[in-house]
Amino acid sequence: MDIEGLKSELAGLSIEENPNFVRMKSRDAYWFSPILKGELDAVMGDLVVTPRNEAEVVRIAKACYAFDVPLTVRGGGTGNYGQAMPLSGGVVLDMTAMSAVKSIAPGRVVAEGGAIIADIDRQTRAHSAQELRMHPSTHHSASIGGFVAGGSSGIGSITWGGLRDPGNIIRLRVVTMEAEPRVLDLFGDDIQKVAHAYGTNGILTEVEMPLAPAYDWVDMIVEFDRFMEAAAFANDLGAQDGLLTKLISVIAAPIPYAYFKRHQKFLSEGKHAVLLMLAPHAVSAFEDFAKRYPGTICFRSDADIDTKGLPPIYELSWNHTTLRAMKVDTNLTYLQSLYPFPNQLALIEKTLNLFGDEVPLHLEFLRFDGNVTCFGLPLVRYSTAERLEEIMRIHEANGVPIFNPHRYTLEEGGMKRTDETQLAFKKEADPKGLLNPGKMIAWENPDFDFDDDKIYLYPGLRRAVG
Ligand code: FAD
Repeated sequence: MDIEGLKSELAGLSIEENPNFVRMKSRDAYWFSPILKGELDAVMGDLVVTPRNEAEVVRIAKACYAFDVPLTVRGGGTGNYGQAMPLSGGVVLDMTAMSAVKSIAPGRVVAEGGAIIADIDRQTRAHSAQELRMHPSTHHSASIGGFVAGGSSGIGSITWGGLRDPGNIIRLRVVTMEAEPRVLDLFGDDIQKVAHAYGTNGILTEVEMPLAPAYDWVDMIVEFDRFMEAAAFANDLGAQDGLLTKLISVIAAPIPYAYFKRHQKFLSEGKHAVLLMLAPHAVSAFEDFAKRYPGTICFRSDADIDTKGLPPIYELSWNHTTLRAMKVDTNLTYLQSLYPFPNQLALIEKTLNLFGDEVPLHLEFLRFDGNVTCFGLPLVRYSTAERLEEIMRIHEANGVPIFNPHRYTLEEGGMKRTDETQLAFKKEADPKGLLNPGKMIAWENPDFDFDDDKIYLYPGLRRAVG
């Protein structure tokens, strides 16, 4: 790697070498995991380069290729498995200056890869009362390129499913890492070559996403005495096709009262909470639906209350639940699991009984392959790495697949199946293996087993291409 050669080639671009700045931009939310915190704490790039447009991205990729310098792309840096951390040093490519929303039309938006998701929503709302179908709970800090390359689903997934589902990404524009970098527009199944690949297969300069009608969503919290009553309510609500929701989260006691400090005055100690975002036109029908269940609505943003200083309800959900809990109790960590349809309620009850207070449950309901079920994002009271592994094994032995958030490689995280098609694309798009090295085991291990029997969130391209 010839850093000096690279720097002279990139003269005139925005380059930062201050070690404190480079260290900051070499980190993401890897510290969510006590395992990754130990493994990745010392990881640091050599320099941060901030392109202003696609032509500069092409120039940077060409120079990195010529001088054998690894390149790791970075958006908002909110990925929580060390996805954006440059294991082999080199360039951290900070995409946040490429933040333009380029066009908005009925049902679609085109934005640069570094655009912050909340900024896109703000502009599509102002333009034509539309918004992205889904966003992570890091709405205000994550980039659209980072969501596509490193995220999976979130607020809106109860209606629209995840990014893995065909149609939830319309087009990706990527710059390859070659002697003469190419700019490719990927559509249809080809999108999966780059989606959720941690930037190992190309640099996303432009993203075209579908839009949905925007509403002034009503935030609500419904409290229950028993966790399984809360889970059953959420499960039934998710299946109500006429009641438009954007978020249905179920969070076990003691999490809500103990960790949702700014909402604490609305909450009761010892109760389990269901967090909701409802379309305003669904509220009256929802109120009658809710009367059939033993819960109590304890918070609603459309009531006559002082909401000053309160975060939006989605900032209590998905991995913000974990974040809020970790802020209070640094001994907590978390897991990611799937409760497969149609046995989700029985499996949730089983998990509850297996672990009790060692693993306080947190469920996120969503459409998964067309059915309403839920992910688990349970907290774990961390004791040892061995016990954490054991908790994961027990989940899997009981029919609850785990997507391990304590691993930084694509394959071990369990989100994405790397297959021959994806690897073949990497060989074309990044022949020297300079894009985010160390994140794709299949690239480094010639004996990689493409046919393990694990369940992956993104099932791989083989199925898609036949
Ligand atoms: P980064 O962290 O900067 O990057 C993520 C990955 O994408 C890295 O591998 C990076 O190399 C790659 N990348 C970034 N930009 C590009 C690009 N332009 N081209 C190619 N590769 C690129 N995730 C969810 O899916 N749903 C959630 O609800 C959710 N909630 C979260 C809550 C908290 C508190 C935290 C810390 C994380 C959460 N995440 C969630 C994970 C993360 O925030 C999201 O995946 C987010 O969208 C990542 O965006 P980012 O811009 O921060 O990406």
